[in-house]
Amino acid sequence: MISETSFFSSQEKQRLRRSLNTWYSKHARELPWRENNDPYRVWLSEVMLQQTQVETVRAYFERFTNRFPTVDQLAEADEEEVLKLWEGLGYYRRARSLHAAAKQVVGFHASKMPESVDELMKLPGIGRYTAGAIVSIAHDKRAPILEANTIRLLTRLTAYKGDPTKSAGQKFLWAIAEEILPQKKIAPFNQALMELGSLVCTPTEPNCKECPLQSVCKGYQTGTIDSLKPTTTKLKFTDAKEVAVVVVDSRGRYLLRRCQPNERWSGLWDFPRFSCETESPVVIEQECVSKVKSLTGVEAEVTGHFKQIKHAVTRFRITLDCYLAKRIGGRLCGDRNSTRWVTEEELAELPLSVTGRKIAKSLAKLPV
Ligand code: SF4
Repeated sequence: MISETSFFSSQEKQRLRRSLNTWYSKHARELPWRENNDPYRVWLSEVMLQQTQVETVRAYFERFTNRFPTVDQLAEADEEEVLKLWEGLGYYRRARSLHAAAKQVVGFHASKMPESVDELMKLPGIGRYTAGAIVSIAHDKRAPILEANTIRLLTRLTAYKGDPTKSAGQKFLWAIAEEILPQKKIAPFNQALMELGSLVCTPTEPNCKECPLQSVCKGYQTGTIDSLKPTTTKLKFTDAKEVAVVVVDSRGRYLLRRCQPNERWSGLWDFPRFSCETESPVVIEQECVSKVKSLTGVEAEVTGHFKQIKHAVTRFRITLDCYLAKRIGGRLCGDRNSTRWVTEEELAELPLSVTGRKIAKSLAKLPV
């Protein structure tokens, strides 16, 4: 931990806190999760905001809290419904962990969110940042936070020359986040740091002229902001991948399978899909037939190719080729929780991946 005077002087810290406080009182956005300091709502918003823009999260947050206003209601919910409400936000592990943690809060903490960082970090999906946000924002307790916006802000404020994404950089920035914390009114302080990072100290063009922290910002004073290392690692797409999806029709109903725990979209429903190792259309059609059989037990015959979707997942650029097929025999393997025939209306109710939903929507446009 950095000692009280090791980076900023006492006067600088006081100025920083005062300026930030004044700025936040004028510029804080009205956001649904700021209506009160319910720890459950703080937790939910912080999980949703990871890797997702504020404007996208708004509607999801409203829908989620309308359906599950308390941690008890979330804990009692069916995972399928939780995933359906999460559909489109991506990173579905967040939703599964949230659900699992809600069950633990109800089962082991009498439905009350723990109030310490250490206890919170024992729950699934809660790391040091989320725990710090819950403790500081919901309970106004002294806990530092460090997320994308504050990593960038603190890197510039301190003109940190190392790599802020590496462990030494993270250690330094956590210590700074702790050093600048005031003794009281922690909730608005931490929220103000994130808000300033999001609205003023933005990734490409920080608005230093309007920034309340200009007078304590080492990056600004030394003119080194542009030379500091980036605070996020740019995702490099290094591999291309061909994937096939088979939409099997049986008298107006479509074949779906539920993704298994070891699969990317665990818990979500999907059309049979598999990676293609060949570009030969004949071989791909044969593979469609054999994969549908092995994944679902259904025997199918491919009737055509109807759509191509290009998208990216982690480092992969994926080309998704969608085939239509009709059922010619076989029986579903597994129970209704693993494979199903569904109508278009039922498809709309089930949680699907983004590409699964695109395919589902395009079915209505296909010639009958
Ligand atoms: Fe960011 Fe500029 Fe403010 Fe420094 S002065 S914190 S670089 S916006």
